[in-house]
Amino acid sequence: MEKVALFWFRRDLRLNDNTALFHALKHHPRVLPVFIFDWNILRQLRDKQDARIIFIQREVKKLKKELEARGSSLFLFHGTPAEAIRHLLSSFTVEAVYANEDYEPYARDRDEKIHKLLQPAGIRFELFKDQVIFSKNDVMKDDGTAYTVFTPYMKKWRSLLNDVHCRSYNPSAMGQHFLKTPPFPDNLLKDPGFLKKAVRFPPQGIDESLIRNYHLTRDYPALEGTTRLSLHLRFGTVSIRELVRAALRLNETFLNELIWREFYKMILWHHPRVENDAFKPAYDEIRWRNDEKEFQAWCEGNTGYPLVDAGMRELADTGFMHNRVRMITASFLVKHLLVDWRWGEAWFADKLLDFDLSANNGGWQWAASSGCDAVPWFRIFNPALQVKRFDPQHEYIKRWVPEGEKKRRQVIPLVDHAFARARAIEEYKRAILLYGKSGRRVARNGKKHS
Ligand code: FAD
Repeated sequence: MEKVALFWFRRDLRLNDNTALFHALKHHPRVLPVFIFDWNILRQLRDKQDARIIFIQREVKKLKKELEARGSSLFLFHGTPAEAIRHLLSSFTVEAVYANEDYEPYARDRDEKIHKLLQPAGIRFELFKDQVIFSKNDVMKDDGTAYTVFTPYMKKWRSLLNDVHCRSYNPSAMGQHFLKTPPFPDNLLKDPGFLKKAVRFPPQGIDESLIRNYHLTRDYPALEGTTRLSLHLRFGTVSIRELVRAALRLNETFLNELIWREFYKMILWHHPRVENDAFKPAYDEIRWRNDEKEFQAWCEGNTGYPLVDAGMRELADTGFMHNRVRMITASFLVKHLLVDWRWGEAWFADKLLDFDLSANNGGWQWAASSGCDAVPWFRIFNPALQVKRFDPQHEYIKRWVPEGEKKRRQVIPLVDHAFARARAIEEYKRAILLYGKSGRRVARNGKKHS
């Protein structure tokens, strides 16, 4: 059997500027590219037509075509990663497995198991940093502890950055090192469980003029003022190094947003408990009201607050929501309705094409004030004022909530703003004082969709 190194695509669905792929091709004369439709993840999806699966299939098909144009192919496997690796070990003489690092708790556990599977056979598992500029302990305080506040983290991040971090890993020179093979069957791409539905994905190109004006346009949901690259960053169809190089040239504010992304990844890495618990334990003392009907009205975009409703409908319709509107809808659920942030987090996780555990958890804990460097607990967005500031002509609202609808259905707001504000402040204050006094924790309400 021919000796090969495996390259395992995960959150890095591209051939160019792919760190682990570059190293695999550099060190091995025969590299076999592999993609695993991981049933541990797919089984948990409630929507069997999840648009993210359709996106992955589209990108995997593209990769397969690109590889076939180079005389190679992409080995596709449906099953668990352990089953896939075992299958490959029985079919090829595998010298090493290459992949890019993934920092989420599930992925850390998965890689640990794969490492244990490969180790007894003397097969190296080589992992590389690729989806971020800085990871794990790369950006730490001078005393060696992890940052919990964004601004000093951002300053340190920027002070450490040099050309090496932003270099491209282009494999073109080593392209001949892909394993030469006839095309592998692609019938796995037609799995009947995941039927196609009409869905539009944002383009993956970098729009320089948009980024140049980003600081002026990014807060207005009616404008095409943000890059919509989140889906591509999530699945690695764009390289973070390429994007950081563009940000350094074009726009400081935009660079800061890319650093927020790494900040939340760093928080999840150092504090994996945030996946379930408030970063600040006092906030797990809040007695959430968790009214099922109100939650449902929020999910469906029927709160009677037009900007909240527009955002929730945009999400349901497109799998995207503008960042400012994410902040407003999240704040409304948590503070106006006093629904546990974990319920909203789970809803977003189901619906967002760009769902990313660290950014979503960070965003929700920011809105609930329970996260590190979050909005202060007594700050409660006034949805009407947010409309005045960020959608004064109601362009965004009209796009998602038709004009006539309000009159026709006489939508009455779920809750009065002033009343809800006072109620939230009282409950937050009570929880924080209680925690301060007792230091004890009451049971949390838990995730809605566990
Ligand atoms: P741009 O404004 O063009 O920004 C460029 C990139 O920077 C984004 O693609 C994203 O990768 C990163 N970024 C920008 N803002 C943030 C931020 N606040 N936190 C972390 N990264 C950021 N982002 C996700 O990628 N996945 C999520 O699941 C997610 N959930 C969120 C939930 C809530 C409640 C909130 C308030 C924010 C959430 N965000 C999430 C962050 C942000 O809303 C999206 O990254 C952004 O709206 C994506 O649009 P864009 O690509 O046009 O962003």
